[in-house]
Amino acid sequence: MTHGMERVERRLDCDVLIVGGGLVGSTLAVALDTIGCRTVLVESRDPSRLEQPSFDARVTALANGSQRILASLGLWRTLVRDAEPIRSIHVSERGRFGVVRIDAREEGVAALGYTVENRRLGEALWARLSTAKDFALLGRASLRSFERDGEGVRARIDDANGGVEVRARLMVAADGAESPVRAALGIGAREDRYAQQALIVNVTTDKPHDGVAYERFLPSGPLAMLPLPGGRVGVVWTLPSREAERVAALPDDAFRDALQEAFGYRLGRILKIGKRALHPLRRVRSDALGSGPVVLVGNAAVTLHPVAGQGFNLALRDVAALAELIAEARRSGDAFASIAARYRAWRAGDQRKVAWFTHGLVGLFGWSIPGVGAIRGLGLAAFDVLPGAKRSLAHHTMGIAGRLPRLARGLPLEGAGS
Ligand SMILES: Cc1cc2nc3c(=O)[nH]c(=O)nc-3n(C[C@H](O)[C@H](O)[C@H](O)COP(=O)(O)OP(=O)(O)OC[C@H]3O[C@@H](n4cnc5c(N)ncnc54)[C@H](O)[C@@H]3O)c2cc1C
Repeated sequence: MTHGMERVERRLDCDVLIVGGGLVGSTLAVALDTIGCRTVLVESRDPSRLEQPSFDARVTALANGSQRILASLGLWRTLVRDAEPIRSIHVSERGRFGVVRIDAREEGVAALGYTVENRRLGEALWARLSTAKDFALLGRASLRSFERDGEGVRARIDDANGGVEVRARLMVAADGAESPVRAALGIGAREDRYAQQALIVNVTTDKPHDGVAYERFLPSGPLAMLPLPGGRVGVVWTLPSREAERVAALPDDAFRDALQEAFGYRLGRILKIGKRALHPLRRVRSDALGSGPVVLVGNAAVTLHPVAGQGFNLALRDVAALAELIAEARRSGDAFASIAARYRAWRAGDQRKVAWFTHGLVGLFGWSIPGVGAIRGLGLAAFDVLPGAKRSLAHHTMGIAGRLPRLARGLPLEGAGS
């Protein structure tokens, strides 16, 4: 096994081969390093330049459970400098009275979550991986083929120097929504296209955001204004696909006016506008979470609409659970082959629930049938005065519902009581 970030060639043996070094694959690699697991990570882009789609200008809203996972992995002390606490969430709908406010103090927590720019997450993850020990990175390399045998997986990787054969006891597909590994396994996926795109841009405003995350439901789709460090605001504006393309191409002044008109003046006037990017939206649910010694995580397992900001939060719970199962298997000497089934039993319920909740939210706010708007408004108002329902939303949003992996409880993967 070659150590550190140095290039490897020809033949590698490891415990876990991770295919895909986006947010999810690289976080899993960090988790496995904390237990000294021999890991190979293959990423088709150039990881040193953070070219992966995960690490673009997007902002991720991290739930408190996710913050705890990143802290347990030792990543938070770097990320905290670039994270903005979310003090309250304000949900509203244009033309309706219903407003839902979820407040950190009311919930008895310091923050409801944190926003971090994806690029900062990428920097922290790759800086941490550059010190990893039993770890080999194959960058600008692609999985060409693999076969399963009694001992795990034998994979063939193409890189600039030709081919590398990797033998692994477990292969983890963190290779995104299209997941070539999922396709090669013959696992189907159900896809719902929303005919919408998310327009991403960071802006400054003349009133301070005071740590408030705004989610505003408009007839054209939801608009999120997320608090960022330095007084900036991260905009996630969901629009019908054509409209998104038109708005993204507007000159700065016209774009500013359109955003101002959509959001209103809760943050005063919109001032500076950053670079705009578009993301087509869809939900993809894999029919299975793996097969034999291969498991799927992150977007490869379930890709969500960003309306509720749940995708990476859900994936982090998957990563924490999977890393815990791998730690247990290594400790007890159990076959890695049982990991896939145990991972599925643990994680399928949470994945289904979050996918259902997110899709339901898109459907609920996507209707433009006359009269439905009033029901939606009433629903929101009712939500604000029904503490039970609101509390359950807040607890899901904070990522503290369900059976929690050790990392999400602030515990290391291995230690007393494990
Ligand atoms: C607009 C938007 C806003 C979002 N906001 C939030 C939010 O606020 N909170 C939240 O929790 N989530 C959010 N999400 C979801 C979050 O971005 C995803 O959950 C996350 O990016 C998934 O990462 P991933 O690593 O699974 O997949 P990807 O980022 O797609 O990474 C897959 C990687 O695999 C590599 N790869 C693919 N095939 C191969 C191969 N054969 N060999 C080698 N490498 C390969 C690719 O190059 C890529 O780097 C948002 C998503 C969008 C679109």
